[in-house]
Amino acid sequence: MTTLDKSLAELAGRIRGQLITPSDAAYDTARQSFNATVQRRPAAIARCLDAGDVVTALGMAREAGLSISVRGGGHNVAGHALIDDGLVIDLSPMRAVIVDPETRVARAGGGCRWLDFDTVTLQHGLATPGGTFVDTGIGGLTLGGGIGWLHGTAGLTCDNLIGAELVTADGRVVEAADDPELLWGLRGGGGNFGVVTRFDYRLHAVGPLQGGNLVFAESAIPAALRRFRDVMAGAPDALYGVATLTHRVDNGERILKLTLCDQRPAGPAAATRRELVKGLDLLADETGERSYAAMQALMGQLPFGLRHYWKGYFVRELPDSLTDVIAARFAQNPGPVGAMLLEPLHGVTRRIPPQSAAFGQRHAAFNVSALAIWESPDDDAAHIAWARSAAEALVPYATTGGGYLNYMGHDEPVERVRAAFGAERFARLAQLKARYDPSNVFRSNQNVPPGVAV
Ligand code: FAD
Repeated sequence: MTTLDKSLAELAGRIRGQLITPSDAAYDTARQSFNATVQRRPAAIARCLDAGDVVTALGMAREAGLSISVRGGGHNVAGHALIDDGLVIDLSPMRAVIVDPETRVARAGGGCRWLDFDTVTLQHGLATPGGTFVDTGIGGLTLGGGIGWLHGTAGLTCDNLIGAELVTADGRVVEAADDPELLWGLRGGGGNFGVVTRFDYRLHAVGPLQGGNLVFAESAIPAALRRFRDVMAGAPDALYGVATLTHRVDNGERILKLTLCDQRPAGPAAATRRELVKGLDLLADETGERSYAAMQALMGQLPFGLRHYWKGYFVRELPDSLTDVIAARFAQNPGPVGAMLLEPLHGVTRRIPPQSAAFGQRHAAFNVSALAIWESPDDDAAHIAWARSAAEALVPYATTGGGYLNYMGHDEPVERVRAAFGAERFARLAQLKARYDPSNVFRSNQNVPPGVAV
């Protein structure tokens, strides 16, 4: 038995959760990556039941000299939740959600997915802005920002983070609310400061919505994008929508989906939809009244095991020249699954004072992303080249040259992470990192190295 085997056996006996090693039948399932281009073989996966387990697992890793990674919902395409030869702190068993309807606060385990969260809060008619896919983790999504259907009226997910329990690199259990700077860092600064074992969110009342897809033919893409831009520029907070250039599932044809989530009554929502489609080649109107739960389920789910390469930029504005660039670049996507996604930054998100969160791009007009998604390793080169060149075409329009932390791949250099925050924020995050994680234990992420001068 090696020293490492002994340490792992000891850890297995000390945590309340489960320790999975390469000799266990569950190992290959436990190390499954959402993005099949990123395959990692950890030394072990510690499925933690509570903060105590996390403290124990981190302590063992420290003593054994093992690198660690943290896995929330496991959906990040960079695959940083898994690590070769290291210990994965897997929070997937920590999925309890407790709601206080009086104070409108929810406390959620660090491994929750949005479906876990919404299911409980919606019993009280309440929600916090989450992502648009119910199976993504609240952990990574919140720590990287969080762009979802409700952000026009309630801000980003991270803007609604009002507290958190965190296990630090040296094994302390701290409350983020006791350190405003730490709470600031958790609002968009990524998984750099510790393992969040509990997230506390502000909740908002949410009723029936007018939502769904307007589907346009490929020929209408540039004009429909311009119309969408113009409508969103004057839209009330209650109207949100994203534009996805994608392919029809049945025949692979290129289409544009405008997915709307309108919290206004049916009348004004219908008037806006008429404005959006007027004179354009509309293939289908799939909008209608929906519950928030149905809105959250609208995008369906992407299975684990597809291959992904995502790259994008926040842009200052969406001039006609850029809508043309986006349409032309999408036309080169090898298909049949890849997409380009345009997410406006809207309403309350733009009005929240920028200094309140580490997230650094709230005044961008849109987050524009090239999402290469495919199945066969034989097609890796073509899809990756497409996403890189589509993203490259966005550079002249970019705010700072940074992408959205939550969509970045595993090969993004520190310069891109710095640009995502801007130099001043990045320096502030680096100082916070130096206080909470001076040895950069939490580095399997979009990393902010401790105390790096800018
Ligand atoms: P994981 O892969 O588990 O974690 C990613 C990283 O986050 C980890 O490496 C770790 O550094 C950190 N982390 C996660 N949990 C914790 C924790 N509890 N404590 C400390 N660190 C932690 N983003 C949006 O904003 N809006 C969307 O609508 C949206 N939709 C998406 C749909 C799909 C299909 C996918 C794949 C992604 C989507 N995203 C969206 C991006 C999503 O926000 C990121 O992928 C996010 O990182 C997923 O979080 P996770 O916990 O599932 O990821």
